[in-house]
Amino acid sequence: MKLDDAVLQTPIVRAIAAAEECCWINPGLKSGAGAFSGTTLTMRDVDDAEARLLRFAPFIMRCFPETVPAGGLIESPLTPIEEMKAQLNANYDAGIAGRLLLKRDSDLPIAGSVKARGGIYEILKHTEDLAMQNGLLAPTDDYAKLADEACRSFFRQYKVQVGSTGNLGLSIGIMSAAVGYDVTVHMSADARQWKKDLLRSKGVTVIEYASDYSEAVRQGRALSDADPMSYFVDDENSVALFLGYAVAAKRLKTQLDDMGVGVDEKHPLFVYIPCGVGGAPGGIAFGLKKLFGDAVHVFFTEPVQAPCMLLGLATGLNSGISVQDVGLTGLTHADGLAVGRPSGFVGGVMAPMLSGEFTLEDYRLYDHMRELMVTEKLFIEPSACAAFAGPVGMRRYDAARAYIEAHGLTDLMPQATHIAWATGGRLVPEKIRGEYVETYLRGAYDTWQS
Ligand SMILES: *Cc1c(COP(=O)(O)O)cnc(C)c1O
Repeated sequence: MKLDDAVLQTPIVRAIAAAEECCWINPGLKSGAGAFSGTTLTMRDVDDAEARLLRFAPFIMRCFPETVPAGGLIESPLTPIEEMKAQLNANYDAGIAGRLLLKRDSDLPIAGSVKARGGIYEILKHTEDLAMQNGLLAPTDDYAKLADEACRSFFRQYKVQVGSTGNLGLSIGIMSAAVGYDVTVHMSADARQWKKDLLRSKGVTVIEYASDYSEAVRQGRALSDADPMSYFVDDENSVALFLGYAVAAKRLKTQLDDMGVGVDEKHPLFVYIPCGVGGAPGGIAFGLKKLFGDAVHVFFTEPVQAPCMLLGLATGLNSGISVQDVGLTGLTHADGLAVGRPSGFVGGVMAPMLSGEFTLEDYRLYDHMRELMVTEKLFIEPSACAAFAGPVGMRRYDAARAYIEAHGLTDLMPQATHIAWATGGRLVPEKIRGEYVETYLRGAYDTWQS
């Protein structure tokens, strides 16, 4: 597409195009109700999604016994990582003064990533719709019955399809197979081999593309649209996915309350979430802003070669621009974030709500991964490690320091809580973890060589 030169010559777009690590503070951030001017979705929609997940809890327990201890809730721990905080302060002069917590969606049951929220929710919603329309289910029924053979053979007539860089495919594939659907996952070239193998072992059809994520989605959508029995999970536009992710905010609030961590005008909350197409971090951000308003500051983090949401927001072009349009490759070791064009729907919601973004080079993903393993004995996958660009960046960049100053937060930082959102990791096989540990061992030096 032809792009306006004035848009491309701003300092931030020049830095993005040069694949420099950067911090962008959103000049369009609105306070109070203004933060929601990009959407008509409400807390009632989030409550509805939460209630639906509760209705499905008996079914989830029956299909996935690992969820029984949590009563069929798919939820992850919130863990203080003080040793990691000390390490980041020592290695990067990060100057993190308050609390640093890790939201471990990396350990979510069933799919081992943040996609266990949105992806599974959308499949359950579709299942409820189908079952009710066809008289298999009444609102007061015990949803565990959906796992009976009679129901499973009904669902077997239906198809589910999705385009994915890996983790969404895992979540949709595993849950769809559990319900009984005939499920096909369209995988982009970025998807790791073990994810394809795992899905095939569960009876999921995996179609591989040599192209990127957008192309896998396009092909998957076309095939699904041509088949009246097929349902397409549309990562770029799905409201159901978004709301499934948003439920995380309510669960997080309960966890913070249980830890005695208050969030208010005097106790700011900073949340840093790795972003791909935008659905997961966007849904979580939306829920958090609804619950905590101006007391929460949400930042997304993206790899320098695939900062699609940042580019869309910083230019105002939203999904009208791709990272390839400014000469970036879109290629990154952060497979979960390897997206060249953001969700237009999510970009519109985020424009008045997001505080800003940080980008980082790939080698840092592995450095942060190793730091977390050494200090906290916790493993999260490289994509998830992008979250640490946030806490490390708050002091590193003039723009971030100016944000803190402008919001009157300077003296409050010792009382602040920072949450790095660990978006995936549990299903990564031991052998692959070993390979990750060896990757970019010499940090930036390897980057210059390659
Ligand atoms: C999918 C994913 C994200 C980002 O979610 P989007 O909805 O694509 O923005 C972040 N981290 C991991 C590990 C993921 O799999």
